[in-house]
Amino acid sequence: MCHRMIEEGSKRGKAMVEKRQLFMEMRAQNFDVIRLSTYRTACKLRFVQKRCNLHLVDVWNMIEAFRDNGLNTLDHNAEINVSRLETILSSIYYQLNKRLPTTHQINVEQSIGLLLNFMVATYDSESHGKLTVFSMKAMLSTMCGGKIVDKLRYIFSQISDSNGVMMFAKFDQFLREVLKLPTAVFEGPSFGYTEHSVRTCFPQQKKIMLNTFLDVLMADPPPQCLVWLPLMHRLANVENVFHPVECSYCRSESMMGFRYRCQQCHGYQLCQSCFWRGHANGPHSNQHQMKEHSSWKSPAKKLSHAISKSLGCVPIGEPPHPVFPEQAERPPELTHTVVLESPSRLDEEHRLIARYAARLAAEAGNSTQQCPPTDLGFNFDANKQQRQLIAELENKNREILQEIQRLRLEHEQASQPTPEKAQQNPTLLTELRLLRHRKDELERRMSALQESRRELMVQLEGLMRLLKDEEQKQASQSGGSPHSSPSHGAGCSMPMPIRSTSAGSTPTHTPQDCLAGVGGDVLEAFAHGVPRNLRNDLLVAADSITNTMSSLVKELHSVDDVGVEEETNMRNGGDRGTLRVQKH
Ligand SMILES: [Zn+2]
Ligand SMILES: [Zn+2]
Repeated sequence: MCHRMIEEGSKRGKAMVEKRQLFMEMRAQNFDVIRLSTYRTACKLRFVQKRCNLHLVDVWNMIEAFRDNGLNTLDHNAEINVSRLETILSSIYYQLNKRLPTTHQINVEQSIGLLLNFMVATYDSESHGKLTVFSMKAMLSTMCGGKIVDKLRYIFSQISDSNGVMMFAKFDQFLREVLKLPTAVFEGPSFGYTEHSVRTCFPQQKKIMLNTFLDVLMADPPPQCLVWLPLMHRLANVENVFHPVECSYCRSESMMGFRYRCQQCHGYQLCQSCFWRGHANGPHSNQHQMKEHSSWKSPAKKLSHAISKSLGCVPIGEPPHPVFPEQAERPPELTHTVVLESPSRLDEEHRLIARYAARLAAEAGNSTQQCPPTDLGFNFDANKQQRQLIAELENKNREILQEIQRLRLEHEQASQPTPEKAQQNPTLLTELRLLRHRKDELERRMSALQESRRELMVQLEGLMRLLKDEEQKQASQSGGSPHSSPSHGAGCSMPMPIRSTSAGSTPTHTPQDCLAGVGGDVLEAFAHGVPRNLRNDLLVAADSITNTMSSLVKELHSVDDVGVEEETNMRNGGDRGTLRVQKH
């Protein structure tokens, strides 16, 4: 019955989507020749993600969509029917198109059709025509775009109690839902849910707070049942990385994605396709240890990097994201109320900033009592300045948004008459000229904001260190160590490659994800002499700014999971110690 509903739903749009279309397309990709189940699973899910255009929806936009659709007021076990799901997916994709430049619009109907069918196949295998709010949230927040740390923070907010302590039963429920994803792409034998799944993640039933949760799920290696999830993000990040190096097996002149270098055979390198398929030739064997590289550096660049490293300075202008300290900072505990219950995202961001400021004030008060401020590298005056700076930034952001709002209103008034009349309407022309005149002003504001953003980032980095220190101090006082890794991580040997320590892989930013893109949008919106779809462009520009603020706050909280290089070991000879029978 529900399937008929989907078909009818899709028929309404121009793009008809066959029920099994996504699976047929996935099969055509021939992922099954990949011998390593982790890589195979990650590749399949990445394919699903991209095919459904979910990679373009940042997790923060997803959370917003949940809120817009009233999901946060529903119980996790509440059931929603397929037609409501379709409505929610529509709103997600229509909002996405509003954020995308007019030149990069997605096919909404097709995306809805593909994703709806996939979700029904994954979560409603018995065709009740219903799925739970929780399964929908778990699925969409896992499969959307954005940083893994943001996703995990959101998920934690959904499975923790009001004291910020994880509820094991909820985590179990989450695993049950999220592990349906590998199962849906026929990787259930490796990564399907079992009643032991929780224990493989958290062997001891101790109090799990956000930082421990993140430590465990983002550990290297991650828990076995979820190992495909961070890999999916890494895959996405290296997808467009180009290595001007020949593959020793297939002899293609260059490679995209990961590059694997043998640790025994001099100069033996494989492209990801060959390595994943277990190819080996000459004296090389696929039992040799390989190092996984997610970037390529020319020998000259390598040298300069080594020099600057030895001098202790950071290479300038290399990474497209802020350089974090060697020991990546973890965001302080944030309750889910901040993420979920504020009326608008902007308010919520202001509240987050305000919260930091408030905590900073409290910390500063404590630290003067408990230990000399020099210990923390921060003094009270500096904190005060930071708070002032944050307040200024907030005002600046509001100004810009008000400006945009005003422009938008003005233009709406201006676009009342029909286009033909508009051409002869001198008042309108003047107004439009005025609008274009604002371009410079707006751009100046944007660059000021950009500058402030950098400052704010530095300030918040300091704040986080302060808060973390405080947390650690409290933890050591209370005897427990929330940052210690679980015992299962250490001894477990992972058939994963060593990851290269060279920095600077190029993350693939979604258009709304980078500040540089905002300038572009704004430029584009105002550069045209003719009011070509100006209203849309203004909306795009306004949205971009909101998104910039969103990514600003995101970056403030996020451990950068791209730039930080991790290391693991891998042998390609076999799959990890699972029961899975290898296909080839
Ligand atoms: Zn190759
Ligand atoms: Zn070798």
